Amino acid sequence: MSQPLTVSAGTKISLGDFDARYIEGDIDKKEGRDQTEDNAEALADLGYRLYAENKRSVLLVLQGMDTSGKDGTIRSIMKGLNPQSCSVTSFKKPTDEEIDHDFLWRIHKAVPNRGNIGIFNRSHYEDVLVVRVLKLVPESTWSKRYDLINSFEHLLTEAGTTVVKCFLHISKEEQRERLQARLDNPDKRWKFSKGDLDVREMWDDYQRAYEVALTKCNTDHAPWHIVPSDRKWYRNLTVSKILRDTLEKMNPQFPSEEDGLEGITVV
Ligand code: AMP
Ligand code: MG
Repeated sequence: MSQPLTVSAGTKISLGDFDARYIEGDIDKKEGRDQTEDNAEALADLGYRLYAENKRSVLLVLQGMDTSGKDGTIRSIMKGLNPQSCSVTSFKKPTDEEIDHDFLWRIHKAVPNRGNIGIFNRSHYEDVLVVRVLKLVPESTWSKRYDLINSFEHLLTEAGTTVVKCFLHISKEEQRERLQARLDNPDKRWKFSKGDLDVREMWDDYQRAYEVALTKCNTDHAPWHIVPSDRKWYRNLTVSKILRDTLEKMNPQFPSEEDGLEGITVV
């Protein structure tokens, strides 16, 4: 059965209905990688046009459990993009200064400039995910944040930022293998923290918190994409395609040239 990437706003999202190993159509890893390369090339051109046009921007929000591949996806997307026209921001535990402001303060400061593609590695969604699961603020506070997030994302879209949200969906078994691989490989151990195991123990709580966030914040102006991510090549292919489709639809244009350039010879 075909599995959608997006569902219509208002539909309740249950992650159990989404297979993290799903593949659309008859495509193998080699073909998938070739297509991802193609998409990266197209993105480089589209990103150049967006930069030249200098009117609109794109924000790619990446969320997912530990090891779901947020960093790997960013590496794959960034290939070919002009570093001057894109930004990557990782959101960690808020600093003292950030905590002293509203939860969107640090987020708003990091949204891409006109002409740019901005990528968020984690985002304002942490404020209804980890914050909710660990009860870092009272329910009366986090429960209001879904509406605040929808309004915030609406503000961004009205200001010319296309908001693309991808949830990298992995299975619990796949996470087990990836965490173990980090432990077993000395070059990957730096990525592992014992705290990752505590988070893993609360897997079900996080999945529930994700389901609520994906459902409540799946709006027409900023829909969620549920990206099957147990296979890295398919995850990269899917996100690159979503971004390429988004930019192709935006169809950024070069600014018009100055009059009278025809026939000028530079001496
Ligand atoms: P990593 O992505 O592995 O570098 O880890 C970043 C950590 O920061 C994760 O454990 C997140 O849950 C945590 N984090 C990000 N945003 C927040 C937030 N608003 N409140 C609390 N923890 C956060
Ligand atoms: Mg980590």
